[in-house]
Amino acid sequence: MVAEKQNDLVEIKNLKKWFPVEKNFLDQFFAGRHLKHVRAVDGVSFTIKRGEAFGLAGESGSGKTTIGRLAIGLETPTEGQVKFDGVDLSSLQPEALRKMRRRMQVIFQDPMASLNPRMTLGDSISQGLKIHFPEQAATHRDTALSIMEKVGLTPPNYFFNKYPHQVSGGQRQRVVIARALITRPELVLADEPIAMADVSVRAMLLDLMVQLKKEYSLTYLFITHDLATAKYICDRIAILYLGQIAELGDLPEIYSHPMHPYTRALLAAVPVPDPHSRRTQNMPEGEIPNPIDPPSGCRFHPRCPFAKKDCTEIQPQLRELRPGHLVACHYADQFG
Ligand code: SF4
Repeated sequence: MVAEKQNDLVEIKNLKKWFPVEKNFLDQFFAGRHLKHVRAVDGVSFTIKRGEAFGLAGESGSGKTTIGRLAIGLETPTEGQVKFDGVDLSSLQPEALRKMRRRMQVIFQDPMASLNPRMTLGDSISQGLKIHFPEQAATHRDTALSIMEKVGLTPPNYFFNKYPHQVSGGQRQRVVIARALITRPELVLADEPIAMADVSVRAMLLDLMVQLKKEYSLTYLFITHDLATAKYICDRIAILYLGQIAELGDLPEIYSHPMHPYTRALLAAVPVPDPHSRRTQNMPEGEIPNPIDPPSGCRFHPRCPFAKKDCTEIQPQLRELRPGHLVACHYADQFG
């Protein structure tokens, strides 16, 4: 009997990642019970459906990159669980995790930093094949040339022997996309994939990612600080604030009915491509608070223009206020 594929490719439950502030063992030993932690991710739960593009958005320091790394097993959680295709990643031995990683690949933000300057583009792209399919060595070059063509590095034979510094930023990002896709993954973690690209090529790269998602039936975990970019590619989105989810739901629903004051502020601050249109609202004043000692109650209360006394004392839970639309705010019903 063939096992039926479950709809959720990734299941994340009560995920926490705390990093000790004291870096070395001696400092940690002497800190004892007073050991301090950066609570980068602090109790996050969500699922990613097979074939969807799930966005994680928030300001810098919101925990989105750490969640991405936990989701594909590049970090070990302090608490909580990550399941990929029904398998708890923490239950896997290193060799089984390595095999599983073929099915989850990453597109990093900075292609220059993530490509080896001493390797040709063709060798960098084929590297995943050498690791995961060494027995197919005879076909590696052809497979690499074919994926290079798919991502627009044409003619592929010309680019195969080039080095990263010999091509443009947009072409380097295409190399990183080709390298991620060559092992035919199911999940692709795209961590701010166009943030370093020239404004002129960003739309083309996003189009390419949308087209490849369809062609290869990919699932994306798309990390961004930019809600305009998320709108272009994501099906659902979670808005993060200081290591926790503030709001989660289908993208059109969140953009048309934002209910959390933080989401409303983020959306109001997205630039509109119309010189006559003015922003209606600025971002709330102040920085994201220190994740070593987050504010009590609702973490957003020091910056929230609607905060009341109980917001400083009681932590709001994520509640489903409209179908599939979850919000962590005591007064969200009044803002929706
Ligand atoms: Fe603002 Fe209170 Fe809602 Fe937090 S719970 S977002 S402080 S109104």
